[in-house]
Amino acid sequence: MPAKKPRNAMNIMALMEQFDTDSECRAILENLRWPDGVKCPRCESEKVYRANPRKQFDCAGCGYQFSVMSGTIFHDTHLPLPKWFVAVYLMTESRKGISANQMKRTLGVSYKTAWYLCHRIRAAMRDATPEQLRGIVEVDETYIGGKARGRGRGYTRNKTMVVGAVQRGGNIRLRVAENNTAKILHGFINETVHDDAEAIYTDEHQSYAGIDDSNTRHETVHHKAEEWVRADVHTNTVESVWSLLKRSVVGSYHHLSAKHLDAYLDEMSFRFNNRHNEYLFRDTLMKLIGAETLPYSELIAKSA
Ligand SMILES: [Zn+2]
Repeated sequence: MPAKKPRNAMNIMALMEQFDTDSECRAILENLRWPDGVKCPRCESEKVYRANPRKQFDCAGCGYQFSVMSGTIFHDTHLPLPKWFVAVYLMTESRKGISANQMKRTLGVSYKTAWYLCHRIRAAMRDATPEQLRGIVEVDETYIGGKARGRGRGYTRNKTMVVGAVQRGGNIRLRVAENNTAKILHGFINETVHDDAEAIYTDEHQSYAGIDDSNTRHETVHHKAEEWVRADVHTNTVESVWSLLKRSVVGSYHHLSAKHLDAYLDEMSFRFNNRHNEYLFRDTLMKLIGAETLPYSELIAKSA
């Protein structure tokens, strides 16, 4: 029987019907991991035998006994695969992201497990080699978190600065930034925006000055002078990303370490950049099945 394919635009009921047993989940994972037939993860031999239906394989080449989960992040968890699938679904389909607490309640697992799941899936959703932005690119910065009592809106000392670039009709790139000096902002733009981009649109902030070159225009709107749009020069696209960011899970945190905020920004960018990808659920499963195992202890150590 051929494995069921995860559908695009699947709703959660369909997902739970299609992948509500361990063997249904295993079948699809096998299909994604070994599209050309099962191979031994240790010696690459294709002479492998099913030791018992759907679960274990025996390698005739090296004697290794393995399952579709061996060597993947699914291996070390005792979480049933259908719960993994629901967790991936929630992370990829929820536009504003999902907190570990929501995950805990939805899956009926411990907070620790939910937290681990969110981190693992978020790591898999990270785009390791994003393409540079081209065409018309809007760049802006904003501040996240750290509500300080009795301080005005302009107070930013306990907030974290995020800088973003959006290609009109294309992808976004977001990052935590130390400050809004020319050095930091130019560095971010040089890394995320292609040298041949047509134009960069920003506000009048001085640190953006000099970002243009022979084939890339730099246009600014003067927000302080109440100028928001001049012809097609505006930063409304990147500002709509900021409002999405602030309405997201991230927006509800008062304090978030730069490291964790960066991970959220990656997750949000990935979801945004894949907004037309009908196969996001499948693609994320594929990344998870190919991902190296990162033990919980290591994750804790790295997040300190
Ligand atoms: Zn082998």
